[in-house]
Amino acid sequence: TAKVHRNEFQSYHSEMNQTTRDKLRLESDLRKALENEQFTLAYQPLVNLSTGRIVGVEALVRWQHPQRGLLPPGEFIPLTEENGLILPLGEWVLKAACKQNKAWQDAGMPPMRMSVNLSMRQFRQHKLADRIKSILEQTGMPPEYLELEITESMTSDVEFAIDTLSNLKALGVQISIDDFGTGYSSLGYLKRFPVDKLKIDRSFVTDLTEGSSDAAIVTTITSMARHLKLKVTAEGVENDDQLRFLRERNCEEAQGYYFTKPIPANLFEHWYKRYLQT
Ligand code: C2E
Ligand code: CA
Ligand code: CA
Ligand code: CA
Repeated sequence: TAKVHRNEFQSYHSEMNQTTRDKLRLESDLRKALENEQFTLAYQPLVNLSTGRIVGVEALVRWQHPQRGLLPPGEFIPLTEENGLILPLGEWVLKAACKQNKAWQDAGMPPMRMSVNLSMRQFRQHKLADRIKSILEQTGMPPEYLELEITESMTSDVEFAIDTLSNLKALGVQISIDDFGTGYSSLGYLKRFPVDKLKIDRSFVTDLTEGSSDAAIVTTITSMARHLKLKVTAEGVENDDQLRFLRERNCEEAQGYYFTKPIPANLFEHWYKRYLQT
C-alpha cells in the first residue's frame, strides 16, 4: 500500500504543478493581452417588452487569444479579479463601450443605453466615481445612457455600498443589480440602495411554466420591483413562452438568445437594421 500512496501523492503534485503552471501562463498572457489590445466587446440588445424597441445593449468582454482563440469571460475574468488585472481591464471595457456608443450615436442610430458589468474589485476601487466621470468626459458619453451592473455580493457592506452607489448616481448614470435572486442581499436594504433596476438571473427564467417555483419567484420579483419603483429586466429569454409569461407580469425589458446572442459591433449594426424592418 505504501507504493500506491506514493503514486497518488506524486500524481496529486504533478496536477497541482500543472494547474499552477497554467495559471501563471494565463496571467502572463493576460498582461500581454492588455498591452496588445486583444480584448473585444460583444453586444447583446435589451428589448422593451411593451414597445418592442431596443432600449439598450450590454457590453460583454471576450479575449481574442493568439493561440487559444476567442475566450469567454468565464475563462479569464475570475483570474483577473484575483490578481487585480480586472482594474485596467475594467477600465478598458468602460472606455471601449462608451466609445462604441458615441460612434453609434454619431452614425445616426437611435439612442440606446450601454450596460457595463462592474466587478467587486472595481466597485471597491479608490475614487471609482472620479474615474468613471473622466471616462464619460473623454468619450463624450451622456451619463444617463451609461448603466453600471453590480451584483448583490457587492452590497454586503451596506454602508459602503450606499456611499459608493450614491457617488455613482451623482454622475447621472443608471445602476442595476445583476443576477438578482442568486445572492444573499437583504431585501430590507434594497429600498436604501440608490439603484434603478433589477436584472432577474437567467436561472429563474429557464423554466417559467405555470405553477413552477421559478414562475413564483419571477412573479414575486416583478411585483416587489414595482412597489419599490425599480425597473426589471429578465435575462436569458430564449422562447415565446418565457416572453409571454414576462409580458403578463409587466416585466419591462428582456434580454436573451431569443433576440440574439451577444455579437460584435458590426454584426450588431446589421442585426439592428433587420430588426427594425420586422
Ligand atoms: P452576465 O453579466 O450575467 O451576462 C450574461 C451572460 O449570459 C453572457 O455570458 C451572455 O452571453 C449569456 N446569455 C445571454 N442570453 C442568454 C440566453 O438566452 N441563454 C443563455 N444560455 N445564455 C445567455 P458571457 O458573455 O459568457 O458572460 C458571462 C459573465 O462574465 C457575465 O455574466 C458577467 O458576469 C461576466 N462579464 C462579462 N463581461 C464582463 C466585463 O466586462 N467585466 C466584468 N467584471 N465581468 C464581465
Ligand atoms: Ca451583466
Ligand atoms: Ca446577469
Ligand atoms: Ca447571470
